[in-house]
Amino acid sequence: GGRSYSFMLRTKNPCGKVPNKLYLAMDDLADQFGIGTLRLTTRQTFQLHGVLKKNLKTVISTVIRNMGSSLGACGDLNRNVLAPAAPFTRKDYLFAQETADNIAALLTPQSGAYFDLWIDGEKIISAEPPEVVEARNDNSHGTNFPDSPEPIYGTQFLPRKFKVAVTVPTDNSVDILTNDIGVVVVTDADGEPQGFNIYVGGGMGRTHRVETTFPRLGEPLGYVPKEDILYAVKAIVVTQRENGRRDDRRYSRMKYLVSLWGIEKFRSVVEQYYGKKFEPFRELPEWEFKSYLGWHEQGDGSFFCGLHVDNGRIGGAKKKALREIIEKYSLNVRLTPNQNIILCDINPSWRRPISTVLAQAGLLDPSYVDPLNLTAMACPAFPLCPLAITEAERGIPDILKRVRAVFDRVGLEYDESVVVRVTGCPNGCARPYMAELGLVGDGPNSYQIWLGGRPNQTSLAQTFMNKVKVQNLEKVLEPLFNSWKSERQEKESFGEFSNRLGFEKLKEIVDKWEGPVA
Ligand code: SF4
Repeated sequence: GGRSYSFMLRTKNPCGKVPNKLYLAMDDLADQFGIGTLRLTTRQTFQLHGVLKKNLKTVISTVIRNMGSSLGACGDLNRNVLAPAAPFTRKDYLFAQETADNIAALLTPQSGAYFDLWIDGEKIISAEPPEVVEARNDNSHGTNFPDSPEPIYGTQFLPRKFKVAVTVPTDNSVDILTNDIGVVVVTDADGEPQGFNIYVGGGMGRTHRVETTFPRLGEPLGYVPKEDILYAVKAIVVTQRENGRRDDRRYSRMKYLVSLWGIEKFRSVVEQYYGKKFEPFRELPEWEFKSYLGWHEQGDGSFFCGLHVDNGRIGGAKKKALREIIEKYSLNVRLTPNQNIILCDINPSWRRPISTVLAQAGLLDPSYVDPLNLTAMACPAFPLCPLAITEAERGIPDILKRVRAVFDRVGLEYDESVVVRVTGCPNGCARPYMAELGLVGDGPNSYQIWLGGRPNQTSLAQTFMNKVKVQNLEKVLEPLFNSWKSERQEKESFGEFSNRLGFEKLKEIVDKWEGPVA
C-alpha cells in the first residue's frame, strides 16, 4: 500500500500483452480502489470493478473505459485487437502479434481523448512504427479526412464499435469468425509470413424478439500481400464508416452492411478504397481451440505457463500467489480471449519454485478444474452491467455443477465436455452464439437456449428454446445429453450431434422425456 501511480492511458492492449509493471499496478488498484479482485475480459484486457476513492474516481474510470471494456456503452471505435496470447517465438506468431499491434495503432483515435499509459514515469506503451503513421495519413482513394485531427474517423467516428482479431492458421484461440475483421497470417513452406487471408462481417450482438438482428460469422473477403495489410484494413473501416447505418444502433455493426450488400458488392466497394483487387482467399487447415494451459516451451529457451481462471476473476489466495510470482521473477503476462492468464519468459530454473507456489494456490493442475469450466465463459452481468436481464458470472458456477451432475446421471464420463457460455443479455459479450450450449438471458432467472456451436468455434449456434427458467434447466439438458450419450457417432461433439439430429428431433426428445433409464 501507500504507492501512488500516475496514469496516462490509451486503448491498446493488443494480444493481451501485460507488462510486468502494469500487472502489479492493476493488482494494487484492485485492492485499493476496486473490489479486491482482478477481472480479465474476453477481449484480453482488464476490467476494474468497484467503488473508488473520490479523488481517483475520474482517473480510474478512465482506465476502465479505455482498457477495452466489454460492456455496452464504450464508444464507437475499434476495440482491443485480439491475437494469440501464447508467447511462442515462431515467426508466424510474432508476425500475427506485430500485425495486431499495428492495426491497433492505425485505428487509435488521434484526438487525445485517449491516452498513452505511463506508470511511475515509465511509458508502458511504445511509439508507433513509421509504416503505421504512413498508412494512416495516406489519402489515396479518398480514404481520409485530410484536415481533420482524426484522419480516419473524421468527426463522426464509426457507426458502432468495431472488433478486429489476428491469428495464425489452426489457432482459433481468438474466436476469429466473431470479429468485424478477422486476419490470418499466411506463410510459405519455410514458415516465412507472406500475406494475410481476411474475413469480414462477424459479430455477436442481437436484440430479443427482433428477428432482423442476428449473430453472424465472418466470411472470406480475400488475400492481401503482407505489405498491404494496413491499407486493406483501412479500406474496410472506411467502407463501414461511409456506408454503415447510423439511424438505428441495432443495425449499425458492419455485419449488417456485409449481409445487406452480399460479399461481392462489399468486396468491390472495399477494393475502390484499397486501390487493388483482393487475391483469392488461400486454403487454410481446420481451426482448433487452443487453451495454452500448463507448461510450454516458448522457443527461445524460456517457458510459459498458462493458468485457468474461472470467468477471468482472480481473487483471494490465487491473486496473492500470482502477484508473488509475477513480482519476484519480474514476469510479463498475457491475457487470453478465454479469460485465462499466461505467465511468460520463465527461466527453466524457476519452474520448480513457481510450480510449488502455483500448486499451493490451486492454480496449476488442470485436474483441479472440471473440464466443463476450462472452456466455459460468462459475461459480468449482475450487478456490474446496466444491460443485464439476468445472472451470468454469478450464476455459471452452479450451472456448470448441474451440467456435470446431469452428465453423471446419464453416464457421460468425467473427461467429456461441452463448450458452455452464459450471458445476461442478448448483446452476447461472452460469445454465447458460438457455444455448444449457449444460455442468453431473456427474463428474470430465465434463458434462451442456443445449440449447435462447435468445440473449435466455427459454426453459429441457433435458438433452441426460449424462456427456460434456470431452475428447469435439467428438464431440457438431461434428455439432450442422454441422447447425445446414447446416439452419438464416434467422437461426435455435442455441437455436431445437435446439428446432425436437427432441432425438431431434439425438441421431440425433450418433450417425451421421462427421466433416465435406470
Ligand atoms: Fe454484455 Fe453481459 Fe452486459 Fe449483456 S449483460 S451487455 S452480454 S456484459
